Amino acid sequence: MRILVVEDEKQLAGILKRGLQEHGYATDTADDGEDGLSLAETSEYDLIVLDVMLPGLSGLEVARTLRARRINTPILMLTARDAIDDRVAGLDSGADDYLIKPFAFRELVARIRALLRRDDLVKDPVLRVADLEMDTVSREVRRAGQLVPLASKEYAVLEYLVRNPNRVLTRTQIAEHVWNYDFTAMSNVVDVYIRYLRRKLDDGHEPRLIHTMRGTGYQLRVSR
Ligand code: CA
Repeated sequence: MRILVVEDEKQLAGILKRGLQEHGYATDTADDGEDGLSLAETSEYDLIVLDVMLPGLSGLEVARTLRARRINTPILMLTARDAIDDRVAGLDSGADDYLIKPFAFRELVARIRALLRRDDLVKDPVLRVADLEMDTVSREVRRAGQLVPLASKEYAVLEYLVRNPNRVLTRTQIAEHVWNYDFTAMSNVVDVYIRYLRRKLDDGHEPRLIHTMRGTGYQLRVSR
C-alpha cells in the first residue's frame, strides 16, 4: 500500500512519513498543494492524507481538482480547525474522512486502515487467485487452505500482484508501490522478495502463480 502525505509543516510531515513506514505503508510527502496534486495525478496511491491549510492551492482545492479529474483515491483530510463548516467543506470537496489536528497517531492509522478497507468490505475482503486467498482484514494469507505467514513487505508485494492479476508489473512499479521514491532503485530488493514469496507460496504447489516476464518484471496469473 502506498500513501501520499501532503503537509507543509515539515516536522509533522516527517513524523507521519516515518510512522506510516513503520506500519508498512510506502509513503511519499509533498509540502504544498501543487506538488501534492501533481504526484497524486502521476503516481498510483492507495490513499492521500491531505492537510487543508497549505501554501498555494489549499487541500480543499486539491481534493476538488482530483475528483473533477476522476481520480478517486481515498482522501483523509487533516483540519486544524474544529469548525463544522470546514468539515462539511472538506467532505463536500471529495474527502472521504477527516481528522482534526492535533490527533493521536494511532487514530490516524486506524482511520487509514478503515478507509483502505472500505472498498474491500463493500465487495469481498478476501482476494482469491486459484487456491490462494488473501484476507485483507485479518491480513492472513492461505494457499490450498494452509496459513502462510508473511512479513509485512512480503504481504505488500503479494497484495499488489494479487490486485493486478494478469498484468505485467515492472520492478520499478512494484518498488514504487511497496517502498517509496526515496527507495534506492539500484538494489534488487524486488527480486529478493519475489524469491521469498515463491518459496512460501509456489514451491510444492500447482499451478504456479508468480511468473517472471523476462526483461520486464513479474506477473501473477494461473499458468496453463
Ligand atoms: Ca498546514
